[in-house]
Amino acid sequence: MQSSKRLFGTNGIRGLANKELTPEIAIKIGCAIGTFFKRGTLIVGYDARTSSPMLAKAVISGLNATGCNVLLAGMAPTPALQYAVKRQRTDGAVIITASHNPPEYNGIKVVWNDGIELSREQEIQIEKIFFQETIRYAEWNSLGETQELPGIIDDYVEAIKTHVDVTKITKKHYHIVVDAANSVGNLAVPRLLRDLGCKITTLNGNIDGTFPGRLPEPRLENLNDLALTVKAVGADLGVAYDGDADRSIFVDEKGEIYWGDKTFALIEKYFLQDNPGEKIVTPVSSSTLIKDVADAYGGELVWTKVGSVTVAQTMKKLKAKLGGEENGGVFYGPHQSVRDGAMTTALILDIMARTGEKLSKLLGDLPQYFIEKGKVECPETLKEAVLKKLTAQVKGLKISTIDGVKIWFEDKSTILVRPSGTEPIYRLYAEAKSERKALELVREYTLKLEKLIKSLKS
Ligand code: MG
Repeated sequence: MQSSKRLFGTNGIRGLANKELTPEIAIKIGCAIGTFFKRGTLIVGYDARTSSPMLAKAVISGLNATGCNVLLAGMAPTPALQYAVKRQRTDGAVIITASHNPPEYNGIKVVWNDGIELSREQEIQIEKIFFQETIRYAEWNSLGETQELPGIIDDYVEAIKTHVDVTKITKKHYHIVVDAANSVGNLAVPRLLRDLGCKITTLNGNIDGTFPGRLPEPRLENLNDLALTVKAVGADLGVAYDGDADRSIFVDEKGEIYWGDKTFALIEKYFLQDNPGEKIVTPVSSSTLIKDVADAYGGELVWTKVGSVTVAQTMKKLKAKLGGEENGGVFYGPHQSVRDGAMTTALILDIMARTGEKLSKLLGDLPQYFIEKGKVECPETLKEAVLKKLTAQVKGLKISTIDGVKIWFEDKSTILVRPSGTEPIYRLYAEAKSERKALELVREYTLKLEKLIKSLKS
């Protein structure tokens, strides 16, 4: 957790289990959340981490102590819990998960009555209650109660199926390799795929909070086993999920792994064909590919700051039906405006079934870009001044300052220079039609940044 008076980071409260996030703190956080919700009814669920049941019990104590009733849904994917909020019409949910973070971490995510994570303004209210200790305990005779809530994963899977052509997909008998990183994706995805007539091969299919198979973040370097297995068994595709199964990364039948904005662009293309004129919401760190597809198929692109909560909140505000991120998060509004790994998987199969094409062909047909990344160390105290100076330097160019500085060049190449929210570094993301150009951009802006930082230090 951050040392300044903040509890919430970019996606809920996160910290090392039993070091930063102890049961004592979790009880107090539960009390602050309960005070904020004013005696409502909240769903509580958690991911497969070793510390999750312990922290869930502590949070529930706090919620009950402040008069909130709890429906305990148990272990489940984050999007299944978010969907349960809508379906059960509760006031919200508290989800114990650290998503893609390493096994020793955990987190507390708070969801509003529409299933979407709280806005920053709402988080501030909880932080105020927590730090100013204005918790409102209930009297002994009006404490909250806790009841079990079984069956939410069945409801979730059934809901996803209503958004795709089950008959068409079933006829294809797709063979899919699923790697849910020994976590909660295993509780929903195989069930969904079976209902869609697929043959399933699982990797890391048992639930194990130590994540023995791979780290919970579906990064390219963690997915070699998946890519090899897809080829070895001759599957139609492979799919990997993060620790709480809201993000999904795909591998085509040839074993090639795609980063998330590629699959998002594919979903965007077919969504816009059916829904021309709709708004598409994506962070400024996403590929120009998303803009190309929006332009080609009559969509209106809305760039946001980086972060899934911002995308969801922006979709809510604009009543947009589709959002996506380069890390594999796709927000399909007709189902729910939050990232959802199983929903994304069903959408990809739906596109494959209706076109009759292989995944490699569908993704290969999209415009191609080369992406290069870099980072430059920068003390926290200089970050703001660096950004100001850099923005002034590039003023004549086509820029956006939604989050860091993004520059669009005439030849369709771009670079995003953005201070990290968690580390003393600047991150650089360049994209171009050739690898050489992307590399050049990273090199050029690394030098620029280093020079700026040096001048500000002296
Ligand atoms: Mg996640």
